[in-house]
This record gives sequence, structure tokens and C-alpha cells, in this order.
Amino acid sequence: MKLTYREAWKRNVRAWRIWWKLCPSVFLSSALTSVFEAVAPLAAIYFSARLISELAGKRNPQTLLQWVLLILITQAVLQLLKGLCSHWKEYALDIAYRMDDQVLMEKMTSLDYADIDRQYTYDLFSQIKQNENYSGFGIQMAFHIFEHDFVLGLVQIIGGTALSVTMFLRRVPADSSLAFLNSPFLAVAVLAALLVIAVLSPFLYSKGQQYFSDYTPKARFGNRLFGFFGFSTTEQKRASDMRMYRQQENICCIYFDRSNMFSSDSDIGKAARGPMGLLTGASAGLSMGVVGLVYLFVCLKAWGGAFGVGEITQYVGAATQFFLGISALLDAVAEIRINGEFLGTTFEFLDIPNKMYQGSLTTEKRSDRKYEIEFKDVSFRYPGTEQYALRHVNLKFSVGSRLAVVGPNGSGKTTFIKLLCRLYDPEEGQILLNGIDIRKYCYEDYIGIFSVVFQDFRLFALPLGENVAACCDYDRARVQKALDDAGFGGKYTPDTWLYKDLEKEGVEVSGGEAQKIAIARALYKDAPFIILDEPTAALDPIAEAEIYSKFDEIVTDKTAVYISHRLSSCKFCDEIVVFEKGRIVQQGTHDDLVADERGEYYALWNAQAQYYV
Ligand code: ADP
Repeated sequence: MKLTYREAWKRNVRAWRIWWKLCPSVFLSSALTSVFEAVAPLAAIYFSARLISELAGKRNPQTLLQWVLLILITQAVLQLLKGLCSHWKEYALDIAYRMDDQVLMEKMTSLDYADIDRQYTYDLFSQIKQNENYSGFGIQMAFHIFEHDFVLGLVQIIGGTALSVTMFLRRVPADSSLAFLNSPFLAVAVLAALLVIAVLSPFLYSKGQQYFSDYTPKARFGNRLFGFFGFSTTEQKRASDMRMYRQQENICCIYFDRSNMFSSDSDIGKAARGPMGLLTGASAGLSMGVVGLVYLFVCLKAWGGAFGVGEITQYVGAATQFFLGISALLDAVAEIRINGEFLGTTFEFLDIPNKMYQGSLTTEKRSDRKYEIEFKDVSFRYPGTEQYALRHVNLKFSVGSRLAVVGPNGSGKTTFIKLLCRLYDPEEGQILLNGIDIRKYCYEDYIGIFSVVFQDFRLFALPLGENVAACCDYDRARVQKALDDAGFGGKYTPDTWLYKDLEKEGVEVSGGEAQKIAIARALYKDAPFIILDEPTAALDPIAEAEIYSKFDEIVTDKTAVYISHRLSSCKFCDEIVVFEKGRIVQQGTHDDLVADERGEYYALWNAQAQYYV
């Protein structure tokens, strides 16, 4: 459906409001910069005209000096003021641009996890970024329209009108053969012709530019390809694969040949050589027509004796400013519509609602850490899928116990953890904490009781200590203890930078070392529940044995939940639950479960037992 102008306007106004909230001073500083920018040439036009008139007339040195001084002083003052305001504007804009990114970042981090996990959200976000990078349209463009086109355009129109109005009022002497130039009809006709050209020229220009915005979806894809393939050959983490499989050739082929986005043969290249070029050229030609018509009218009037040579300069200059203003204003009108389309994507993203119920109960900070979790007939399907990832799950576990979750790939183990941490809510059934539905707790409070090491954990290119503590201001002794407990002690200090992205002395850690750091981060949080999803997958057997042998000591009175494929490491847990196809098919201690020869656990155990004998 085509966007109405009203709706486009509303979206731009909303973007202005965002700017206003981010940094109100950008409006004042930009408006003032634009005013001084527009007034400086008008002042120059006015005083130069007086100077030329004097030169062509009486040539009084005193008066000439006066006009020269006025030109110099007004220009110096106006340029100085413009410079000052422009610095102020740059400063304010710098703050606002950073905060503009923050608006998107804050939205991203406050989204319901289920929404972050959706392709739709990811697509919206990358579209916004692509739009900003490709054409600058979006929230930032809304501001540009305000400062550059609206304010500058308005001041140019007002100033240009003020300086050129007498062009029509001053009369050619009645006895001149050019007296017909005094006719009001002629004045109206000239004005009308000027206005038509003034409107037509930007109209043709914006028609030409329309090719750019029509090309946006394709260019967006091209930009995506560029963003991904353009840099992948230089990524250190891909270097080994690149060499082994000569991927650079394949990638160059995809990037350069298959994506015909920006070459001269691309659609936009063809348009630029064809209709787009014609329209832009016609627009530029018409703008020149305006100047030509003004020159003709003004010079004829001057020839007829209506005014002198100084006024010719004034009227031509003022009329040029006037039409520049009209053109800027019309640009703004056209851009508001185009930007409205792009802002649609931005606001669709910013308006994604938080549907998860947010309760207000606090999870008491119990010194006895007495927490009991119960899954009551919980079923769950990932949004947009038909298949149940969990089906009728019933489970109770209380504080201090060691719970192992085992089962084949895709049986629902990670999903179980995601529901426990309220990344998703169950579709049916309830999860209870101390008898109360977890939805009724304040979300921040609730997730505060869990330390989780997800399978796909990520560390930051920051000092080791900051990674472990997840903040800059941390307790070194506790960080060191957490690292020691996770088996990472000694090798690096908390000040050692991880990775080389930001620090040339940064260290590269192996997968196993990274996993130990992630475990240390979970230990540092010191939450009553510690959950490890495949906690030792990347560890060597010795490191794994070390972790497990002292796990009781590390976990102390916390409740530990581990998901593991290695059944030998679950053997020591108080309770083991076996998942299969989203259901709990067995539950009990290792000895109970291994005794059931027809059970899934027995099969899994025996499949691995040969490695442990
Ligand atoms: P496990 O941890 O036991 O290997 P998961 O809990 O990750 O298994 O997955 C259980 C099922 O849910 C699988 O069929 C998987 O394909 C599906 N699944 C997991 N994550 C998603 C997701 N984000 N969207 C849709 N389906 C998913």
C-alpha cells in the first residue's frame, strides 16, 4: 500500500521527537547555523549591490569605504557566528548520533528473547542499518531534512523575497520604449514562469532520485553481500579454512560476479546513463533557465532606466537565493515522503512489543538458598514451528541437588534450560519457583538466581578480569578464585587482554580455555543455581576430569544442572533425567537407570562405556 503523505509526515515528526529527546541542543545549534549560512550571502549581495551602485554612480570615496567596511565586517561577524554555531552543532550531533545508535541497541537488548531469535527481527534490524549505510535514510535523515532543507530553505526564501521585491516595484520611465516592463501582467507572468521552473526543476530531480530509492532493496542485498563477503577474506578466524578450500575464489565469484549490484552494467548504472541522467540533467538545465530569465528581466529593466547596475547584482543574487530556498523546501517535501518509507522499517522495529508478562514479586535473597523449582506439565513449541520441543515435562528439583540432563541431540535439553531461565515462556503448563509461577517474579530478579554457561557463550575482547566479572569494577581476589576453581588459574592475570581486536598484546585462547573462562564467569556471579550446557565439550579429558573431581567443592551449596553427552560425568549426580523427543523418558540415579536394560539411558551408557573402560 502506498504511503500517504500524512503518514510520512507523522513518521518524520516522530523521528524529530526522538532527536529532541536525545539532544535538544542539536535543533537550536543547527537552526542557528543554517540561519547564518543563509544570511551571509544575502548580506554580501545587499552590500555589494550598494558598493557597485556607488562605483557606477557618484564614486564618493567616503561612501565606497563605508560599503567596503560593511561588507567585510558583516561577513566576518556572520562567518564567525556560523563557525561557532557549526562547532556547537557538530558537538551536539556527535552526541546525538551516538545516542541514535543507542536507541536501536537499547531496543535490541530489551526485546523479548523470543523476538531476538526471530529471523524477522534480525531482518528488520539489518535493513535499518543497510538503509543508513546505503542512502542515509532513517532517523538521521529526518534531522538532515529539518536542518538543511527546512531551516536553510525558509531563510533563503524570506531573505531572497525581501531583497528582490523591489525588482517588480521599480519602474522604467514612462517615455522609454521598454515601459511595457512596468505592466503588472508582465510581472505576474515572469513571476509565474519563475515559480513553475522553480517547482519543475526539483520535481524532475526528485523523479531522477526516485531510481535510487527504487533500487534500495537490491542495493541493500548488495550491501549485505559486501558486508559479509567483502571482509570475510580478511578474517583471521577464517584464514585456515580459506587456505584449505581456496574459499577466496568461491567468495570472489559470489561477491563480484553473481552480485551485479554496483557495476556500470547494474540496473542503477543503466538508469544513471538513461532516464535518471536525463531527468537530473533536465533539472539542472531548468535551474539555469531561472537564472537566465531573471537576468533577462532585470537587465532589460535596468536598460530601460528602472535602476542601476548595483541592483542588477542584488536582484540576480536575491532571486537565486529565493529559488535555492524553494528548491530546498521542495526537496524537503519529497524527502519526507521517501524517508517516511524508510522510517516505516525503523518504527516497525522500535514498536515490537514486549509480550512476556513481567511480574513484580522479588525472589527473596534467602540466606539458606532454599529454592525449589518445579516443571508442571510443561509443553513448548518454538514460535512458528509445529513440532513440540518439549512435551508434558514434569520435574521437581531443589536446592543443593545435582541434576544431570542427558539425551540425544535435539531431544530438548537446551530448550529445557531456556525455559527455566525464562528466555521463553511455556506454551502449556507452569514452571514454579518455591510454589509460585516464575512469570510472577520480577524478571531481572528472577534471572539473577541463575548462572548459566550456554553452549554458544561469547567472551569479549576485554581484559580477562572484566570478562569474568562482567563489569569493569571487580574484586580481583574473587576473579582469581573463580578462575582457579574453573581450572584456568595462573596462566594469565586478570589484566591480560583477551583477543587482539582492541589490544595488540591481547592473547588468543583456545576453545577449552574459553570454556573455562565462561565457567569462571558463572562462578563469579555466585547465583544459587549454576547451569552448565555441555560444560566440558571443548575441554581435554584431563581438564574435564579435573573439573568434575572438584565440582562439588566448586558448586558448594548451589544447585547445579548439567547437560552433558558424556554420561560418565553425570554418574555422580543426585538425579539424572533422560530426554527423548522433548519428553522426560527416565529419571533416577545412575545406578537405578543403568539397571533398566530396556531404557534409553542404558543404551546411551553402553554406547559410550567402551571409551571409559
Ligand atoms: P538438545 O539441546 O537436546 O540438543 P534442543 O533443545 O536444542 O535440543 O532442541 C530441541 C528441538 O527444538 C530440536 O528439534 C531443535 O531443532 C528445535 N529448536 C531448537 N532451537 C530452536 C529455535 N530457536 N527455533 C526453532 N526450533 C528450535
